[in-house]
Amino acid sequence: MSFHASVLTIMPDMFPGPLGASLSGTALREGLWRFDVHDIRTHGLGRHRAVDDTPAGGGAGMVLRADVVAACLDAVAGADDPRPKLLMSPRGAPLSQARVRDLAAGSGVVIVCGRFEGVDERVIEARDLEEVSIGDYVLSGGEIAAMVVLDACVRLIPGVMGKVLSGEEESFEQGLLEYPHYTKPRDFEGRSIPEVLLSGNHQRIKDWRMEQSRALTRLRRPDLLGQKK
Ligand code: SAH
Repeated sequence: MSFHASVLTIMPDMFPGPLGASLSGTALREGLWRFDVHDIRTHGLGRHRAVDDTPAGGGAGMVLRADVVAACLDAVAGADDPRPKLLMSPRGAPLSQARVRDLAAGSGVVIVCGRFEGVDERVIEARDLEEVSIGDYVLSGGEIAAMVVLDACVRLIPGVMGKVLSGEEESFEQGLLEYPHYTKPRDFEGRSIPEVLLSGNHQRIKDWRMEQSRALTRLRRPDLLGQKK
């Protein structure tokens, strides 16, 4: 069983986009995960395959129709499809590394990308969509947000990242930000590498990194400290 991602969008040409390059692209070609994209407009209504309409109650913009989105969802993920169904939305729960880890360990994900003013509330309820946000700012559509979710998931799929271990020490995995990195040259514009990293003393290096992680987290993201992973 491999991780299977399905994306529903009115902009299918945006995919796989960056997911087809680098780590996730290689993994896709190697069959470590599966990806398909579905054009919501295929289920659009009438001669113009309409997917949206004006908001009930008035106001600016357009809203994606519940019936059209539901028809697309039902065609992509039947009742027996075990994958969680996400709706990218600035109102959603902020994406966390913990949620990413859970998703990556599962059978995959179905992601609905919103556009315009968003999606009719009734399809969110009727299809039990999990609203997920990638941050407190507003994008023009859910496509890039869906790519963010998938990129974060795919790199955790076993076999995708060269060194499995490198994932475990990263930012957020321990509820802390990562320590600073250094590489060659030893001297860069008069700045040297912290002595301890050149000492060869693995315990001292480990302690120093932990200390740096804690200090950075305290300084930049104190909100992470009291938080359960
Ligand atoms: N009117 C909405 C914003 C719509 S933006 C509001 O004020 O909340 C259009 C689409 O972009 C959304 O339906 C959603 O799918 C996507 N989107 C925008 N910002 C996002 C974010 N921070 N995280 C995830 N998806 C986002």
